[in-house]
Amino acid sequence: MDDHTAPGGSMRRPDEGTLARIAEALAFTPTAAYSAPHDYPHAANTFEPAPRLARERVDADVYRLYAHVPFCNYACSFCCYAKKVGVEREQMARYVATLKRELEWIPEGTPVNQFFIGGGTPTALPADLLDELLGAIAGRMPYHGDPVHTVEASPESISDAHLAVLQRHGVRRVSMGVQSLDDEVLDSVRRSHGPDLALETCRRIIDAGLILNIDLIYGLPGQTHAGFRRDFQRVADAGVHAVTAYNLRLNERTPVSRALSPGERFDIAGLMGWRAFVRDTAAEFGFSQTRWHTFKRLDTIAARHQWLPTAGADMRGHQFGIGMSARSSLGHNVYRNHHNLETYMARVRDGESPVQEVIRLGPQDLRTQFIARSLGDGQVLSKARYAEVFGNAIEADHGETLARLAAGGLLADTESSVSLTEDGRLLHDLVTLSFYPGPARQRLLQRLDTFQLTDLSDRRPRPALQ
Ligand code: SF4
Repeated sequence: MDDHTAPGGSMRRPDEGTLARIAEALAFTPTAAYSAPHDYPHAANTFEPAPRLARERVDADVYRLYAHVPFCNYACSFCCYAKKVGVEREQMARYVATLKRELEWIPEGTPVNQFFIGGGTPTALPADLLDELLGAIAGRMPYHGDPVHTVEASPESISDAHLAVLQRHGVRRVSMGVQSLDDEVLDSVRRSHGPDLALETCRRIIDAGLILNIDLIYGLPGQTHAGFRRDFQRVADAGVHAVTAYNLRLNERTPVSRALSPGERFDIAGLMGWRAFVRDTAAEFGFSQTRWHTFKRLDTIAARHQWLPTAGADMRGHQFGIGMSARSSLGHNVYRNHHNLETYMARVRDGESPVQEVIRLGPQDLRTQFIARSLGDGQVLSKARYAEVFGNAIEADHGETLARLAAGGLLADTESSVSLTEDGRLLHDLVTLSFYPGPARQRLLQRLDTFQLTDLSDRRPRPALQ
């Protein structure tokens, strides 16, 4: 087992031999992704135009629900989410009314096993409008099982009135973007809250009896390993139940890239070193790694939450998404609503489908999705299960990729299963991208060419696109 964290938590670089071996194994892998690669096909971003396309009705006993609330109090410079800053209450009220209307697509009484209200910043809505939205969901979709529903929040926007609304509607988990507790780092990414407010808000949410996950980012401008460790210790001391720690992701929509010095941009060694450091820091403060980015205190109420799948064992999706830019996974189609706020609202108001784009999942996409949601999400991939679902061995589809990644020490490929090695875990997203279909990888590589960010390419052979 290779370990790229030196005793005491400081980072040491993998040796040149290790880096050369890994670079060879990842030869055809893009480094640009628009969301986490285990989230295929969204991360591949291969949507086709499909204005007003009607969404397929699927035969599901229970749905997952996503509602997008795009409003924010400020625009963070690393953010590539669909958001609107500076919106007045009147427009927010019309938006909530539109969400309620779109929700009518779901037959009344259809149970929901888990909903996630994301954004944007849902708590940028005044508390009474959030109340109206959650009331509409609960009124139409009875809760199924013992669900842990989530609402996203930001430190400066969530008031005691919001907390009371969440409690009233049985929302048991808040996911709050904190990102850093360093004033200078927060300033550099244009967050308009300070560390004290963030910690005070953590305590209020915990005192209200809710599960609290906070997001931290590593790789921000001016951020140091010591600073990240200090932040982690402070949120642990505040009693936070779970931490989602992301590496900074850059693309053409993230102005933060201009604030990074060349040495701050990730190369393979830097990414592996940071991830080993984050893993060890989380363990030091009593957090267990439950997914690649997620670290939980399993001796707290955080243990009650787990993500429910958006698709069944037959790979058919059953997630409905409402709101501007929201995505629905229904059957073998992924739909995305229009990204313009007024156009989205006008479509729904006029009784039209708000869908603007679609990905129709073909056989190759479903295979990639299977790999992304098993191997790419921290699970062991069962070869027998793969063969059962698709009617052929995984080697028939990905023999060359498996062999290359195994030779590079990133995968353990046995007769019955495929899993990530210790080095593979530190590059889980790049390993997952290696299994993407040729056209999706080609598209990501072209985007990288127009927005060259990392210096991975100087270690790697120029990819011959397939
Ligand atoms: S608060 Fe969240 S959604 Fe809004 S700009 Fe910042 S990161 Fe993006």
